[in-house]
Amino acid sequence: MDAIRVPLIAGNWKMNHGGVSGVVLAASVAEIACETAGIEVVVAPPFTALAAVAHAVEEVAQRRGRAPIGVAGQNLHIEAKGAFTGEVSAPMLVEAGCRWVIVGHSERRQLFGETDELVAKKTLAAIVGGLHPIVCVGETLEERTAGRTLDVVLRQVRAVLEPLGRALGAAVLAYEPVWAIGTGKVATSADAQEVHAAIRATLSQRDGALAARTRILYGGSVKPENSAELLSQLDIDGALVGGASLDADGFGAILRAARPAS
Ligand code: PEP
Repeated sequence: MDAIRVPLIAGNWKMNHGGVSGVVLAASVAEIACETAGIEVVVAPPFTALAAVAHAVEEVAQRRGRAPIGVAGQNLHIEAKGAFTGEVSAPMLVEAGCRWVIVGHSERRQLFGETDELVAKKTLAAIVGGLHPIVCVGETLEERTAGRTLDVVLRQVRAVLEPLGRALGAAVLAYEPVWAIGTGKVATSADAQEVHAAIRATLSQRDGALAARTRILYGGSVKPENSAELLSQLDIDGALVGGASLDADGFGAILRAARPAS
């Protein structure tokens, strides 16, 4: 991590925790975040829990006198409104209390057919709508085995960088090797650092200031046991955490590991 980039830890709850258990978890995470200075924390509940979670976080913020965590949607539609049954737009996420949204998660790319082009449009829609997108990129096991990791990841990065340019400054990138998500297999810190450095070099070719400022998170089986080692790498600026974000103790341990050394 570099001192100019505040570490960001985001928890992707996926299709877990509705409003009832989600409120309890978010309130506990918010309390832990209040005690963990120097990092930024985001949770991404399912759509139906967003407003209740945002309300619970606001209650903690009022009581503790600081906004401890941000709330993210897990996806959005590119249009602001209209006849798109089952979809949710950026303005709706903002109204529900979100400041963040995850875009292009590998499950969206693989299970719901999201292309690089659609991911770029969603990233733009998020920024125009006033949200900070967390844009996910990553290679499959087949692509890694074939030695195509950097080709694939940098293609995905350029797909958002080329149309958005400096506007991408509102975004965070997340490198998530697909083979490490939910599998317990984690990239070695050296392998992850190599990909993060290549992503930053790609940003730098376009805009040095953008590259220096943009946070690049690692995601894929991040746990309390491996987070400190990953987060110690120069170009790893935080984590996108799935399974280990579903309980406050595990997520709290990752937050504490992310605290900058004082
Ligand atoms: C994710 O889904 O973004 C993720 C990183 O999941 P996990 O931490 O469970 O691998």
